[in-house]
Amino acid sequence: MNRSFDLQKIIRPNIKKLVPYHSAREDFGEGLLLDANENSLGTPFPDDQQLHRYPDPKQTKLRDLIAEWRGVRTQNVFTGVGSDEGIDLLYRIFCGPGQDRVLTTPPTYGMYNVSANIHDISVDQVLLDEEGFQLPVDQILETVKPNTKMLFLCSPNNPTGNTFATEDIRTLIKEFQGIVILDEAYIDFSNRESWAPKVVDYPNLVVLQTLSKSFGLAGIRLGITYAQEEIIDYMMKVKAPYNINKLTAEKAIKGLQNWETVQFRVDAIKKERKQLKDKLEQLKMVQHVYESEANFLLTKFTDAQMVYKQLADQDIIIRYRGNQPHCKNCLRITVGTPDENERLISALKKLGS
Ligand code: PMP
Repeated sequence: MNRSFDLQKIIRPNIKKLVPYHSAREDFGEGLLLDANENSLGTPFPDDQQLHRYPDPKQTKLRDLIAEWRGVRTQNVFTGVGSDEGIDLLYRIFCGPGQDRVLTTPPTYGMYNVSANIHDISVDQVLLDEEGFQLPVDQILETVKPNTKMLFLCSPNNPTGNTFATEDIRTLIKEFQGIVILDEAYIDFSNRESWAPKVVDYPNLVVLQTLSKSFGLAGIRLGITYAQEEIIDYMMKVKAPYNINKLTAEKAIKGLQNWETVQFRVDAIKKERKQLKDKLEQLKMVQHVYESEANFLLTKFTDAQMVYKQLADQDIIIRYRGNQPHCKNCLRITVGTPDENERLISALKKLGS
């Protein structure tokens, strides 16, 4: 428990007094629906999905299912258009443009910085340790300033693939007086427990997850934020009224109902990750393949630029990460299907010969 954390102190004053958009239907539910200027004649094609009607602004069915699946309460769950919407809303709620700061720990996911730039928020960066990409906890806490509102931690981390030590995460949550955003986009590929159920114990902890990775549903754009109820209430107030469309909600619900299939696929990707790592390690041009608890492998080559370009010439697209700190000559490779990985490895073998 972070005893001195005070949510009301760090919420932007304009958000505190915000009166959210309110639809008449929220008060009355079903009936003769002539309140929202929908098209009474329906969609231009036959369908049974009532797509001429606006979706549920609160996504109650979907949020109920997510809550049950992760062992939290619906009040602790927010659903957004990808994790990126969650990140954007947290900036809007906690960070005053041109005034406040956030702290990130590169090498990490780039969107935290992009979103800071959009909102005119300064970013302090404390690099992860070079050996093992772990959190330099003391240095992070020393770098925090009175107007540092949010600390972004990504575990498993993109692009390094490792998870952070549980005790380090706990210390930062306890010591930092702002919001700790723990991005668990890749958590299902790791052997660690999610921190999502702990948001009731830690009032300044916000956990991000997504259906884009383990669920294989990047195309529907569904991200999940877990936090204490008061933070979720603010997110619900600030979001666009109908942010999650009906088609996305329906597919997300189907995805959750097929959790066993998802787990089966996750296991297959983890096995494939191991095989791909072994094969990459046998190549002369590969200096190191980092341990990964995600669905990608950060790999250090002797000449990453050359490999990247020559693979691209063969329409094999991977991610160049060589310009990220501690990642000189590194490429990030998503674990593909066995056939795709085979194609990658044989292309690399040809470059090497
Ligand atoms: N967090 C991390 C760490 C990611 O790597 C990504 C996507 N690459 C996201 C969030 C974005 O997730 P979404 O598709 O839900 O916006």
